[in-house]
Amino acid sequence: MRALREVPGRLDVERVRKDFPILRQEVHGNPLVYLDSAATSQKPRAVIEAVSRYYEQDNANVHRGVHLLSERATQAYEAAREKVQRFVNAAHAHEIVFVRGTTEAINLVAQTYGRTRVRSGDEIVITVMEHHSNIVPWQMLCEEKGAVLRVAPMDDTGTLLVDELERLIGSRTRLLALGHVSNALGTIHPVRRIVEMAHRKNVPVLLDGAQAVPHLAVDVQALGCDFYAFSGHKLFGPSGIGVLYGRSELLEEMPPWQGGGDMISSVTFEKTTYNKLPYKFEAGTPDIAGAIGLGAAIDYVRGVGVDAIAAHEHDLLTYATEALREISGLRLIGTAKEKASVLSFLLGDVHPHDIGTVLDREGIAIRTGHHCAQPLMRRLGVAATARASLALYNRREDVDALVAGLHKVREVFA
Ligand code: PLP
Repeated sequence: MRALREVPGRLDVERVRKDFPILRQEVHGNPLVYLDSAATSQKPRAVIEAVSRYYEQDNANVHRGVHLLSERATQAYEAAREKVQRFVNAAHAHEIVFVRGTTEAINLVAQTYGRTRVRSGDEIVITVMEHHSNIVPWQMLCEEKGAVLRVAPMDDTGTLLVDELERLIGSRTRLLALGHVSNALGTIHPVRRIVEMAHRKNVPVLLDGAQAVPHLAVDVQALGCDFYAFSGHKLFGPSGIGVLYGRSELLEEMPPWQGGGDMISSVTFEKTTYNKLPYKFEAGTPDIAGAIGLGAAIDYVRGVGVDAIAAHEHDLLTYATEALREISGLRLIGTAKEKASVLSFLLGDVHPHDIGTVLDREGIAIRTGHHCAQPLMRRLGVAATARASLALYNRREDVDALVAGLHKVREVFA
């Protein structure tokens, strides 16, 4: 993130906010302060319009029709794939597989790559900070195959212990799967270094980029990762659409996951042959409008500027961290040096759900709970945290409102 801050070009947050119609509303009589973008982001008008334009003008099924609408739908769907390719700098458009989201992307890799490569006694390495989506698919695979899940630890600030991680990667390791940015703590892992380290031992790496793509420039070739997964809805796009990037050589070798229309080349009752990449992994009618909406979201993000977004959020995170530290009794959870836009905290012994409920009455939306990271909560010795998460449309006033709201929480539970 530090390098990105050097790039000139500031984000005009008031202009950005005008692009998000949902932000212009009151909640319980107060202006909405949306601090839950790590759960899902809001959508700019450009995305909403791209989806409705598709349904109003081009709606048809893709790849199979000879009529004009089908051609237009196919063109728009494939153009969206190319936008994703450029956004993450994949070498080829066919390395971009459209899926439902990060969860489905990881399950796809577990069920195809994992099932063919992992045998009894083999190991999958993850970290203690993973979202359930990057734990459970591997656990299911390990159970089926008699394989072992190894978990890399972190220190008390939420910084991954990379040396310990390295020690866990051995001759039985078949895959290292880790988040790029932790959803519960905001820690940005040194993934490029980690990928190099794993590759030195011939271990492929899957990166869960769900919390990275909305905040950081991602270049899958520079990172050198083998798989990269993310969700459209966290990147200002629609829900129900996401991306699995995979290196061609690996995707080519992997068997298909789901069977059905579009993923085949020919079918007889005796034998089916499969379509080329990426269609081999896209069985059935895809979320065409979702992909088009995701393409529009990527256009939007690039229009604002990925570097300008990263710089804006970095400033805001610093401001918010300092402001929260001033609140007596507040304990920040996750204080790694390299962080993206997440502030997890506890306030005295007020239950996080109570914090969230009082803030909601003030119009402030945050998330409370285990953040789909129960093993991490256990490692931290807490049942839940309150989490405020920032995005490109947040401003200092939102942080000030959060601070005022937290003072109110303290008064209510004094
Ligand atoms: N991985 C991380 C780090 C996440 O934050 C999330 C969602 O919160 C997911 C995976 C799952 O994403 P989805 O529910 O969009 O599949």
